[in-house]
Amino acid sequence: MSDTYRAVVLPAFNAELVLEERAVPTELMGPDAQWLKVVAAGVCHSDLHVVEGRWPALPTPLVMGHEITVETPDGLAVVYPPWGCGACRYCDATEEQLCDHVKEAGLVHDGGYAEYVQVPHPKYLFPIGDLDPAFAATFGCSSLTPYRATRKALDWMPAGAKVVLIGAGGLGQFGIQYLRAMTDAHLIVADMSEAKRARALELGAHEVCSTDELEGPIDVVYDYVGADATLAVANRIIRRGGLVVNVGAYGGSVPFGFSLVPHETWWTQSMWGSREDIAEVIKIAQRGDLQYSVERLPLDAAAEAHRRIRTGDVDGRLVLIP
Ligand SMILES: [Zn+2]
Ligand SMILES: [Zn+2]
Repeated sequence: MSDTYRAVVLPAFNAELVLEERAVPTELMGPDAQWLKVVAAGVCHSDLHVVEGRWPALPTPLVMGHEITVETPDGLAVVYPPWGCGACRYCDATEEQLCDHVKEAGLVHDGGYAEYVQVPHPKYLFPIGDLDPAFAATFGCSSLTPYRATRKALDWMPAGAKVVLIGAGGLGQFGIQYLRAMTDAHLIVADMSEAKRARALELGAHEVCSTDELEGPIDVVYDYVGADATLAVANRIIRRGGLVVNVGAYGGSVPFGFSLVPHETWWTQSMWGSREDIAEVIKIAQRGDLQYSVERLPLDAAAEAHRRIRTGDVDGRLVLIP
């Protein structure tokens, strides 16, 4: 094997991505670590927030990419990207994304926008069988996160429940499919884009509308945007005792207090997914229950991919194929 590899590097916050030839590390991060060939790497909207310096504690230069499919000696596998300490209550429960000392691939450690990636332990590798590796990359984030958000709210959805999902983008489209596959709730999807409302209907939404048209009372509201305006809509339509799940990382907020939210409403946020969750997502995908669309791009198109996500010029998931 060559002693260099190609990687797309973010040199500093707000800088242009650069395709670099880098030296292969002579020492790996631990005795269980593996140096693996990247087969596909999804470009996530949150990668733009990384570039913008939303999380200033992250190290640069950095190789982004937390949706990664790799080639292992035993076949193709998707990488579970939040790597925890391995010794706390969250890590014991496979919820490494909640670990206080989590170091995520593509955020803290170098990730998948590269020909090779280092994975610290085999427990983070999940075989994908004969699934499309570009689709499987989404199991690392964009289809994992909505799975967790969906299953967490099932207790709030008795027969005949009414559910609203705001924001039918990449994650929201998976959220729609999980709700239809896992519940018999009546699903109303709100999005400002007519094209996305049409897509929501194709994926099984019972009704679609714009956020202004939403009316309560609603048992569960999923906010896949997470802006001030969408959280305010959630607060307006949630029923007493209902549940609001904020999945979107837009950064908005809603005033919380005794008389500021409907009585006894529950507000939660859903964060990424656990190792158990990713195993469930793979099973659901293998049953053929998930529709998806991916567009494959070469590694040197990473900067262009970011520009397109920023301007909304994307139909499905953009996936880099090194
Ligand atoms: Zn931990
Ligand atoms: Zn992501």
